[in-house]
Parts: sequence; C-alpha cells; structure tokens
Amino acid sequence: MALDWNNLGFDYIKTPFRYISYWKDGEWSKGELTEDNMLHISEGSTALHYGQQCFEGLKAYRCKDNSINLFRVDENAKRMQVSARRLMMPEVPEEMFIDAVKQVVKANEEFCPPYDSGATLYLRPLLIGTGDYIGVGPAPEYLFTVFCMPVGPYFKGGLKPTNFIISDYDRAAPQGTGAVKVGGNYAASLYPGKIAKERNFSDCIYLDPATHTKIEEVGSANFFGITKDDEFVTPYSPSILPSITKYSLLYLAKERLGLKTSEGDVYLKDLDNFKEAGACGTAAVISPIGGIQVGDDFHVFYSETEVGPVTKKLYDELVGIQFGDIDAPEGWITKV
Ligand SMILES: *Cc1c(COP(=O)(O)O)cnc(C)c1O
Repeated sequence: MALDWNNLGFDYIKTPFRYISYWKDGEWSKGELTEDNMLHISEGSTALHYGQQCFEGLKAYRCKDNSINLFRVDENAKRMQVSARRLMMPEVPEEMFIDAVKQVVKANEEFCPPYDSGATLYLRPLLIGTGDYIGVGPAPEYLFTVFCMPVGPYFKGGLKPTNFIISDYDRAAPQGTGAVKVGGNYAASLYPGKIAKERNFSDCIYLDPATHTKIEEVGSANFFGITKDDEFVTPYSPSILPSITKYSLLYLAKERLGLKTSEGDVYLKDLDNFKEAGACGTAAVISPIGGIQVGDDFHVFYSETEVGPVTKKLYDELVGIQFGDIDAPEGWITKV
C-alpha cells in the first residue's frame, strides 16, 4: 500500500469493499460486500429531505501480534438501534451489525494501519431512509451500509492540547435529537464549527440549550474535566450524545486509576474547579483541552502546551486496551 501511515488525516479514502443490506417489507436482505461506493437511491428518499438517517463511528485497531481488535462494537450496535427507534427506522439486529463490521474489516484488511503507526481503520455504519416517497413520514425502504478507511488523529496534534470556544449556537434542542447519532445534529453544527475554526479554535463547545449555563459537549466528542481533588467529572444531559469512549473512561478512571467519578452539571462559572479537561470520542480518542474561550475570557486548564498527568494516564490506559497491550475489562474487545 502506498499510504503514509504516520501522516494520515481524517479524510475519505475509498477502500475496496463495503457492506450493504436493504430493508423492504419488514425484512433485511442478506447483506453483501460490494466494490461500488455509489448509492443508487430514489430522489424521494426521506434521508435526503427530512434527515431520516443515523450513523455510527468505530475503529479497528491493529495489535502487536498483527491481530485486529474492535472496541465495544456491541455498544455501537445498540446505540444505532436507539437512534433508529428515535427516527422511526427499522433496527439493525446486533449480530448483523457486528457481522457487517467484521466482514468489512476482513475484506479491507490491508488498509488496517500497522501497530505503532498511531493510525487505525475507521468504520462508518450508516442507516438511511430510501424509496419513493414525499410525505412527511417514515420511509418505505431502508439501506444499511458499512464502509471504512484508514485515519489518523481527528484533532491535529495528538496528545498536544488544543483550544476550544463556547458557541452561542445550539446543536440540538433540549428534548430533541441531541442524544442520538443523527446527521441533523451535525448539519446544525457546521456553521458554528466554521466560525470556531476561523478563529483558530479546534472546534466549539455547546452549552445546554435551555439555559446556556452548563457545558454539554464538543459536537463530535464529549467533555470531561479532572477537578483539583482528582475527581473525573463529565456532564449529564438528555441532549448529549452518550459517548462510548466517555463511559469507558468513567469506568477506567474509577476502577483502574482509583479516581472518584461523577456525571452531572458542569457550570461554566465553575471552570476554575478543574485542573485538567479533555474531549473524548472514537475519532478524538482523548484530546486534551488547553483552554476555552468564554465570551471575552480565555480560561486555561492545565497548560496550553502540555497534557496533564491524569489525562495522560487515562489516555495510556484506554489506548493500551484498544490496541491489546493492556488487559481489557470483560467483553470490551472483539477479535476480527
Ligand atoms: C459519536 C459522537 C461522540 C463520541 O462518541 P463515541 O461513542 O465515544 O465515539 C460524541 N459526540 C457526538 C455528538 C457524537 O456524534
């Protein structure tokens, strides 16, 4: 492969095979691999008009012994079912989801980056409403696909802290679709994200849409902070997307690092309580937050240039488990 594994970005690369299955009359077709990366769908597809679609994101990790790990793939399968139900789409059975992911990794194995390159094979499961339709209602047909590509770190710099800015916009409504992984939330975040990037921030951080006083999340990653008395704290809200990485860190912080942990309100006015902060997600892994622009104030956590010691320990534990170097809690790793 003529790919420079050490310098991959987070960019689309067409790999040879993707999985596809069609839902019609209450049934999923037998899924198969195809080399065609174009979808042929009706112009009436609800995914195009009314945003009836959801997706997932997970990675395959190449281990030292050359085997390939999936990290908590069953959680991705379950979360896609929650998203599907919220948007009135048929669920993809968990076994079918996991089988699709495994098939795609195996078929594109040469694109799974080597151990130690810092790169991984990113998988994108996608479920969309299709078929001839125009009224506002659930689609008559659906399509489920999984494709993949090698990726490097999502926020450039790896474990180097980057800065974020509080957005005046919301990515989701208080009782809307913030807690499910649907494209509409991302469409709403493109413009605020562009404003943040124009001002040289990695991305924006969204506040709770009802009162704009509490930190919710980054828009593609969840937020966590380490308090001055070593508690791992992360926001809880019905409009935050429940990050599998975040729940894994909550567990590891408590069980492996012996920290106190809690999920709750993270008020903007209390940022001084934190000595470290970070963004976490499959794509972001753990991205230390150097500082946050809050209106005219710039709040620095641990340092703008160095990762904090607790964040570093959490990162090492998480990544060590994902790449098979550290024993995983029961059920977290599936071998491809
Ligand atoms: C996918 C996603 C995350 C990260 O979730 P993981 O399961 O950790 O990958 C965080 N926030 C949003 C809005 C997301 O869509």
